[in-house]
Amino acid sequence: RLVSLGIGDVTLPLPPVVCQAMQKAVAEMGSEEGFRGYSPEGGYPFLKQANIDKYARWGVKLNEEEVYVSDGAKVELGSIYDVLDVRDVLIPCPTYPAYYDDAILAGANVHHVTGDEGCHFLPPPPEKTDTPYLIFLCSPLNPRGVAYDKNGLCEWVNFALKSGSLLVFDCAYEAYITDDRPHSIYEIEGASGCAVEISSFSKSAGFTGVRLGWTVWPKDLKDRHGISLLGLWRRRQSAKSNGVSYISQRAGEAALSQEGEKAVKKQVAYYGENARLLRDVLLRCDITYYGGIHSPYLWVSCKKWGGSWAFFHFLLQNAHIISTPGVGFGEAGEGFVRLSSFGRRQDVIWATEQIERVLRR
Ligand code: PLP
Repeated sequence: RLVSLGIGDVTLPLPPVVCQAMQKAVAEMGSEEGFRGYSPEGGYPFLKQANIDKYARWGVKLNEEEVYVSDGAKVELGSIYDVLDVRDVLIPCPTYPAYYDDAILAGANVHHVTGDEGCHFLPPPPEKTDTPYLIFLCSPLNPRGVAYDKNGLCEWVNFALKSGSLLVFDCAYEAYITDDRPHSIYEIEGASGCAVEISSFSKSAGFTGVRLGWTVWPKDLKDRHGISLLGLWRRRQSAKSNGVSYISQRAGEAALSQEGEKAVKKQVAYYGENARLLRDVLLRCDITYYGGIHSPYLWVSCKKWGGSWAFFHFLLQNAHIISTPGVGFGEAGEGFVRLSSFGRRQDVIWATEQIERVLRR
């Protein structure tokens, strides 16, 4: 038996309310009255409105034109380069690898801020504000499993405003926040003057295989030549995309309904309980770890086992568990592995027994 606590892919089936909405949408598409062709630019108003209502519950006011429905966060992270004239990109290290790879593909200079134990893996912005960067920041953080509080995000927004940087805030894991930490960057004053927000239904509603997300482009946001970024994005989308499937958008609307939100909470709580089981076994084995509270990931220290790859092999060969070597998220990830709590409960329980067997002294 081999259990994967590696890749961050969900395992629970889609909530019934979502499946019913998709089935209904399929039936509509097969009928003369219900058939739809191309989606309106930026997404159907019913899904945009459901998203706007969600932001309103966080105290954030958005307009329909500012919300762009996407087929997931990953594509959007790379597409941003189409509308920006970017020289310098600032990325925390370790980080979600797409930020780095997209920057390299775009030919940008990559600069890092290092998130180590000293700052609880939540790096603050640089002190000098003389370079305008394109900054990629996510919270809750992948791979480090921790989340910024309001003060931490205020520091980044102030830095972006002072340095003339554009902050791309990725909140793909916001559903995992369990206290009053911000879910959206727009909960921070000034953010609509310096930040784009990218998010996804993948890790909340389990849409990794459905493909659906959204991007927020505040209408007053300008590039350094004073050109509206929302206008440029509209142009880019019209040129390169014909939108997202009607069936996926109806699925997203269902996930944001009252019943959908309850189902999403239940799924997130299920993965949260998996994370608790993993946290508990690491505590019993006296192993240092971070995260696993506002996030589905645990960031596990393995320096005394000889580093990321040595511990990966140790777990694979002795406990039959697949982890992700931390160094795969950047040099500063050396000495850690990431454990994902997205597995099925019986697999996670089995994995905790294996960890206890091979690691408890
Ligand atoms: N952003 C982060 C931080 C992620 O970890 C992931 C996927 O693991 C994504 C974005 C991609 O999300 P999507 O499935 O919407 O493309």
